[in-house]
Amino acid sequence: MGAGVVGVATAWYLAKAGHQVAVVDRQPGAGLETSFANGGQVSPCHAEPWANPSTPLKALKWLGREDAPLIFRWRRWDPLLWAWSARFLLNCTAARARRNIDRTLRIAVYSRSCLRQLRQETGIEYDQKTLGILHVYRDPREYAHAVAASELMSKLGLERLVKTPAEAEAIEPALAAVRPQLAGAIFTPDDESGDAHLFTQRLAALCAERGVTFHYDTQIHGLEWDAGRLTGLATSGGSLKADAFVMALGSWSPRLARQVGVSLPIYPAKGYSATLVVGDDSRAPSVSITDDEHKMVYSRLGNRLRCAGTAELAGWNSELTAARTRALVGHAQALFPGAGDYAAAELWTGLRPATPDSVPILGRTPVPNLFLNTGHGTLGWTMGCGSGRILADIISGRPPDVDLSGLGMDRFGRP
Ligand SMILES: Cc1cc2nc3c(=O)[nH]c(=O)nc-3n(C[C@H](O)[C@H](O)[C@H](O)COP(=O)(O)OP(=O)(O)OC[C@H]3O[C@@H](n4cnc5c(N)ncnc54)[C@H](O)[C@@H]3O)c2cc1C
Repeated sequence: MGAGVVGVATAWYLAKAGHQVAVVDRQPGAGLETSFANGGQVSPCHAEPWANPSTPLKALKWLGREDAPLIFRWRRWDPLLWAWSARFLLNCTAARARRNIDRTLRIAVYSRSCLRQLRQETGIEYDQKTLGILHVYRDPREYAHAVAASELMSKLGLERLVKTPAEAEAIEPALAAVRPQLAGAIFTPDDESGDAHLFTQRLAALCAERGVTFHYDTQIHGLEWDAGRLTGLATSGGSLKADAFVMALGSWSPRLARQVGVSLPIYPAKGYSATLVVGDDSRAPSVSITDDEHKMVYSRLGNRLRCAGTAELAGWNSELTAARTRALVGHAQALFPGAGDYAAAELWTGLRPATPDSVPILGRTPVPNLFLNTGHGTLGWTMGCGSGRILADIISGRPPDVDLSGLGMDRFGRP
């Protein structure tokens, strides 16, 4: 269920393992919802969860600001958001943030190596760049906090290098205009970037060559079950039968899962992106950049620059709002002035399937033939290949390469 980057990667590894696979999606092609115009980063370095000790105070400071990097619309009548926010707050302790970094890194680093292997095996091209990711900071306090988190990630096996502003400019010369404002930077040389949509479409084509069937333009209305097991999907194209089912519906997973008593704490975190054609090569970055203070990332995709980020928890709505679009484009223009025509940028929003602890939900459910591959939040492109491979291993009865403790739905208590 679902032909986003996560669903298609799952189909790929299942087909490789010898299974007969069908993918169902309501869109006319693969990767057309949240996987469409995301930030493009393959970024284990982004493993620090939103829920960390500094977030509650920041969220309070940002209250009422339409251009804030992170907005909770608590005033709405939305019990799902309130329940999700309560769990989010419980994850804002230092100990839980450390635990969640460990869980995220485990799967993100594995996934990056699966992506590399897949690239080698298939020769797939998706405007990828393997130049690393550079985090930049203007505020010395934010920088000090980031250096501490980075030390933890280094201890957990991710190489991260602390850099001065001059060293940051040497890594990415397009930062020249803002160098005087920088407090410092952190470089992750092994991280990558690329177009998730292009990757998903091309991987879907490779899946089709291996015999995977795609049912596009097909809405899944319900799960059919009998004697405690799923038997099929009730869809706009009729009933589809199978032995095992993987739910990879991103932000829409909880609605269907609820039908069989599986409650998933996934809430949509709306993000924005702007994509512009690069006008001046020397002013647009080639190395992927993260500006944590504004919750924005930048990736060079061929001759385009993708600027993406910010988060708004306001239900399942993907409207563009003027204030947030202005803020996003304004931040991009301030960091990379003259990179291209920002006024002509293509604007987009997508709904990240966010869990309160920023860790995805993988593996088994109490329904023996229903499996989950969802809740990847800010890192679905980063974790897509690894999660797909893990699911294929579980369904094939092989032990996955990664320790799955803390990655399943059991961490949220009783279903
Ligand atoms: C602004 C922004 C920037 C981001 N930047 C990055 C980044 O730099 N790096 C990174 O790793 N991640 C990033 N992400 C996160 C990443 O895009 C998501 O985690 C990822 O796309 C989730 O993939 P998915 O396959 O789970 O969901 P989706 O891509 O949303 O796929 C789910 C699919 O299910 C289908 N579907 C849903 N309900 C039904 C139904 N009832 N019937 C039939 N089909 C259905 C949908 O059509 C969709 O195709 C970003 C997200 C946003 C919004």
